[in-house]
Amino acid sequence: VQAVFRSNLSHLLELMGSGKESLIFMKKRTKRLTAQWALAAQRLAQKLGGARRDQKQVLVHIGFLTEESGDVFSPRVLKGGPLGEMVQWADILAALYVLGHGLRVTVSLKELQSNLGAPPGRGSCPLATPLPFDLVYTDYHGLQHMKRYMGLSFRKYRCRIRVIDTFGTEPAYNHEEYATLHGYRTNWGYWNLNPKQFMTMFPHTPDNSFMGFVSEELNETEKQLIKGGKASNMAVVYGKEASIWKGKEKFLSILNKYLEIHGTVYYESQRPPEVPAFVKNHGLLPQPEFQQLLRKAKLFIGFGFPYEGPAPLEAIANGCVFLQSRFSPPHSSLNHEFFRGKPTSREVFSQHPYAESFIGKPHVWTVDYNNSEELEAAIKTIVRTQVDPYLPYEYTCEGMLERVHAYIQHQDFCAAPGPAPPGARAPESPFILAPNATHLKWARNASLAPGAWPPAHSLRAWLAAAGRACTDACLDHGLICEPSFFPFLNSQDAFQTLQVPCDSTESEMNHLYPAFAQPGQECFLQKEPLLFSCAGSSSKYRRLCPCRDFRKGQVALCQDCL
Ligand code: UDP
Repeated sequence: VQAVFRSNLSHLLELMGSGKESLIFMKKRTKRLTAQWALAAQRLAQKLGGARRDQKQVLVHIGFLTEESGDVFSPRVLKGGPLGEMVQWADILAALYVLGHGLRVTVSLKELQSNLGAPPGRGSCPLATPLPFDLVYTDYHGLQHMKRYMGLSFRKYRCRIRVIDTFGTEPAYNHEEYATLHGYRTNWGYWNLNPKQFMTMFPHTPDNSFMGFVSEELNETEKQLIKGGKASNMAVVYGKEASIWKGKEKFLSILNKYLEIHGTVYYESQRPPEVPAFVKNHGLLPQPEFQQLLRKAKLFIGFGFPYEGPAPLEAIANGCVFLQSRFSPPHSSLNHEFFRGKPTSREVFSQHPYAESFIGKPHVWTVDYNNSEELEAAIKTIVRTQVDPYLPYEYTCEGMLERVHAYIQHQDFCAAPGPAPPGARAPESPFILAPNATHLKWARNASLAPGAWPPAHSLRAWLAAAGRACTDACLDHGLICEPSFFPFLNSQDAFQTLQVPCDSTESEMNHLYPAFAQPGQECFLQKEPLLFSCAGSSSKYRRLCPCRDFRKGQVALCQDCL
């Protein structure tokens, strides 16, 4: 069946169910964004020009909202608790629905069970029960639920699962045996999925797929109106919880010299003691009113927490400058409580790394808050400058639809691994593995085989410097690491093409391989495909890195990926 774009979302709102505060928040959001989604669908339909899209049957099981997993989020929706997850789930549902797929939504184990075809009240489904869905979007909680109810068929069908995983899961933590042997201990990892089955909030971990969410897009008239309507010296502080204001007195007093400070900190009856009297606190605002506040403000200020949420993008989209602190040393699961137990060792160098590295000045200023001079200089400059509202394409409705469409059409983790590609020859320069005829031909032949998307000819290989992760090595060349290309590089041939002088070659399980160890001139190949990893580095190795190009404003997709 062909999928047909939908622009009327009223049936989706019914599918989303009711009752919980979280669902009410999500439905309000979906309703508000209906016109934007409809317009985006129109634009994408035009761009794709009638290309065939298969309709998939999709189950969305939002595990963290189930009573059985504690549902700690719903009761806090109106009390300053995290909303980013709900923003993302609402947008995932909207994207799937607008793209025209068949959709079921479950937020309880009972609903999940009945959708999986398991008899209610019993344990797992009988062995042979076929999964009635082509795709299942869930989270780590939901994975547990699925495993419990699917029994033995979980193994067979887990390749259809996509795990929404805000901060990402690195391959070393995902591979059960490797993680256990090498101390990659977490509360969440060990599922042995293809790392691309994990989908993140921001494109920070190329080992995973970037799912994202959307922010409202302004038309030219609205942009002009906003630019004209900015209050001269108004700042809004990022964060709904009073605790983030603790210990910020000195910082606030500097800010207060130049700006009128507003906050949206949740409170019950009294003003939270952490928020100084000179701050105008609005309390937690409904999302549309929060946007209105951002439209008047000049500056949106991060105090270091929450990490990597949607609000800074909304602020920048509404013409604010986002000011945030640099973290030195960087925060990670090794040194910060918040990240502890998360299946990643990614180092976070500021509150919002995406804003810092994908957007940057003039919209984003990342400064050392301990350095009062640097801070004051930044504030003075920001107050004097005017910036245009800006929203990266990948965070528009059209951008999200385009990305989710591409994933659904091209990502297949169920098919058996395809034939090994023949080694590439004739490099253009010592360290670029140039696409050549053999490569292109293979890519075309294998276009239906797994691993052929992104298309093989967008591969650019680099031998990274010692101690450099592939994630960074690719970025150094204006490219992005593409883990699905690792098999192309995991051969003696590839090392030869890159003129790496291997005295010996061994094949082992190590998430840093393929790599070259300079001291003994040793080359190492990867034995376990699940361990191919863009993340990770060691001063012992020069890693062999698969990079690819990407579309401007849509880093998840290569030039020829649509
Ligand atoms: N938000 C809101 N009211 C407020 C402040 C924020 O509705 O007073 C919304 C905001 O529009 C954003 C969402 O909260 O979409 C989540 O923002 P944040 O970046 O704070 O991430 P979180 O920590 O909540 O996941």
